[in-house]
Amino acid sequence: MDERQRVTVLGATGSIGENTLDVIARHAGRYRVFALSCGSRWRELLAQCRVHAPEYAVVADHAAATELRAAVRAEGLRVEVLAGEAGLVEIAAHPDTDIVMAAIVGAAGLMPTISAARAGKRVLLANKEALVMAGRFFMDAVREGNAALLPIDSEHNAIFQCLPGGYRAGQASPAVRRLLLTASGGPFRSCPLADLEHVTPAQAVAHPNWVMGRKISVDSATMMNKGLELIEACWLFGMPSSRIEVLIHPQSVVHSLVEFVDGSVLAQLGNPDMRVPIACGLSWPERIESGAGTLDLVAGASLAFEAPDLARFPCLAIAMDAARAGGCAAVVLNAANEIAVQAFLDGRIGFTRIASTIAGVLDSLGCTEPESLEHVKAMDLEARAIAQRLLKNV
Ligand code: NDP
Ligand code: MG
Repeated sequence: MDERQRVTVLGATGSIGENTLDVIARHAGRYRVFALSCGSRWRELLAQCRVHAPEYAVVADHAAATELRAAVRAEGLRVEVLAGEAGLVEIAAHPDTDIVMAAIVGAAGLMPTISAARAGKRVLLANKEALVMAGRFFMDAVREGNAALLPIDSEHNAIFQCLPGGYRAGQASPAVRRLLLTASGGPFRSCPLADLEHVTPAQAVAHPNWVMGRKISVDSATMMNKGLELIEACWLFGMPSSRIEVLIHPQSVVHSLVEFVDGSVLAQLGNPDMRVPIACGLSWPERIESGAGTLDLVAGASLAFEAPDLARFPCLAIAMDAARAGGCAAVVLNAANEIAVQAFLDGRIGFTRIASTIAGVLDSLGCTEPESLEHVKAMDLEARAIAQRLLKNV
């Protein structure tokens, strides 16, 4: 009998997806690809199907799914092609899959990721936006499904590894005093403030330490990424934002730290390579080779830490406020950010308009605590509509 664990990779054609397939390919005796998905880039997904021979391939975009289906048939590949959110939900919760890598970018990943949690899978969570927007409902799904939730975001994976005596989703350990989230500061950490207004999308996605998808790269440049991660950490580790500190650490070697009540501080270090947390998530509590190089602390520069400058990074300040405000502010924050970042990437607005657009949406929406997942989705849509309206009035 084939005892390999069967992995579904949601967002397989992205940066995290590719890294996941790289780690899986190093351990062909241990894992096998069950299903792969993409948004619309079906040719890239077809290439992955040839190599990894999944049972299912899902394309969110229906027209692109039709193209993939025809190509699969023409090549005689034995893969079933599904389409749309329903297809994503199906492969995430399929009884024949054991592990689900949630690596779709943005709110589009919400329902597939929640479905995997409800179905009790081992959920490898990269798609932070899903947790940020639906925190309570997401964590409820994890508990109800008795799923194993493994953080893949490098900072949260670092904290997960430093926590004593086993991680329990959403529950704080009484031994922990504080969490320290590190941030590289992105490409604009030290450029003159006056230049920020004119930076281009190409400059913003050129991250100094990590190669990532375009949306998260812009989030890193604004430091909204760290703001989303702050909210993510509150949910994952059951901590109020007041006990989570953000630290700029330009080298991206210390991935985050946990301070205990006795004053001890544990950190996880490593080269900035997402295959490390991915391998950890796949194999925990065992360890497998990830392909990442050995950390050379002597050859590397010295490790530096500084407090973030909130005037330079207003998105971080806005997200900190949203973290304090709770539920609905996080939904609105995430939705407005997705719209504003896309507008920046499309060349419709300047870099500094990202923060002011998000602030404008938060100001114009009254906040009530979301009562259900449907309520979250409605708030998300409303915030997107307001953001689009504000952008039209540029
Ligand atoms: P990419 O942009 O590289 O990949 C995104 C993936 O999602 C692609 O497979 C894309 O398909 C798919 N996708 C896009 N839109 C949709 C949609 N509407 N429906 C279904 N699928 C869709 O992103 P990353 O891999 O960089 O990031 C993925 C997630 O992981 C994000 O939430 C990010 O914040 C998080 N993360 C990423 C890190 C990194 O190092 N990259 C680090 C930590 C967290 P297609 O190719 O067809 O567009
Ligand atoms: Mg991160």
